[in-house]
Amino acid sequence: MEINLLSQDKLERLQNLLSNATNIVICAHKSPDGDAIGSSLAWLHYLNQIGKQNVRVCMPDATPDFLHWLPGHNSVIRYDRRSKDVRRFFREADLICCLDFNQSSRVDAMQEVLDASSAPRLLIDHHLEPEENNELTVSNPEMSSTCEIVFRLISQLGGYEKMTTQCATCIYCGMMTDTGGFTYNSSRPEIFYIIGQLLAKRVDKDEIYNRVFHNYSVNALRLRAHIILNKMKVVEELHASYFSVTKDEMAQFHFIKGDMEGLVNIPQQIKGLKLSISLREDTEKPRTVLVSLRSCNGFHCQPMATKFFNGGGHADASGGRLNCTIEEAEDVVLKALLYYKEELK
Ligand code: 5GP
Ligand code: MN
Repeated sequence: MEINLLSQDKLERLQNLLSNATNIVICAHKSPDGDAIGSSLAWLHYLNQIGKQNVRVCMPDATPDFLHWLPGHNSVIRYDRRSKDVRRFFREADLICCLDFNQSSRVDAMQEVLDASSAPRLLIDHHLEPEENNELTVSNPEMSSTCEIVFRLISQLGGYEKMTTQCATCIYCGMMTDTGGFTYNSSRPEIFYIIGQLLAKRVDKDEIYNRVFHNYSVNALRLRAHIILNKMKVVEELHASYFSVTKDEMAQFHFIKGDMEGLVNIPQQIKGLKLSISLREDTEKPRTVLVSLRSCNGFHCQPMATKFFNGGGHADASGGRLNCTIEEAEDVVLKALLYYKEELK
């Protein structure tokens, strides 16, 4: 099956970029998810395998606990913990690989370090509308995940035969998380061909599923139940649902990072629902509300995320943030629903 993504010209440019690089930094977006961290670590494993020894994975902040088992995760360097070291790695880098994000603002506080670097940049991503100030841009929004792109690149670079189980595991994890366990955004036959290729590398897919999706603490499950039972609002005539979660509620359920991961998808189980929105108070920054949006049944949430929530993302999975109180954020949601009421009806 044909899975190559790059033209001959782009392939040669990628090969040149890699062969000229000695000190390489890999980075991904703030609050890395399975795809961001999976693609970064898979790319690390590949670069190590072709003989690159000075490769650093630098992330803006923490990875949720349920992804710490990923092979190579213990080598990840966090900017919020080791900013001096990260600064040095960026300064010394002769290649920066940006994975799973389209705008440098997505690395949050680390943006300053990224923008200050003059090293050539390689962008590998599947979000819409990527910034184009890169030496090489590999942007394929039609792909399920950055991990899928990374697999296709490694394959096109001739690296499949030597691909390790560790590398394949990281790729499988990101493909799985960005498609909700292959329940959306994953209908192209190439995806299942790639899964077959990964299984041939002895990826334990059931184990990966369990580690990622069956990993709640009792508190996390009770927090989720509380939100669905007591906080979820449904605007039936607009096929929309939203909920908000305050810092106090999170404290009550001993919230840790990752506890609400994927919760915005749950209201989509309501028959006919088109839009689900999650509002969550930032536990660190005051007057900051983190927003997640999901859509289906013909409505696309990305324009709403851009217009009302200072964000963006994919057509049906977007995010953003608001600088206001949680009550004011709920008002913004109501305004957004009204603005799109004809499409939501
Ligand atoms: P999540 O709801 O899982 O945080 O994010 C869903 C999608 O929206 C992800 O693909 C993420 O990259 C994107 N996204 C989340 N927050 C932002 C944001 O502030 N700006 C932009 N442009 N995209 C975002
Ligand atoms: Mn992704």
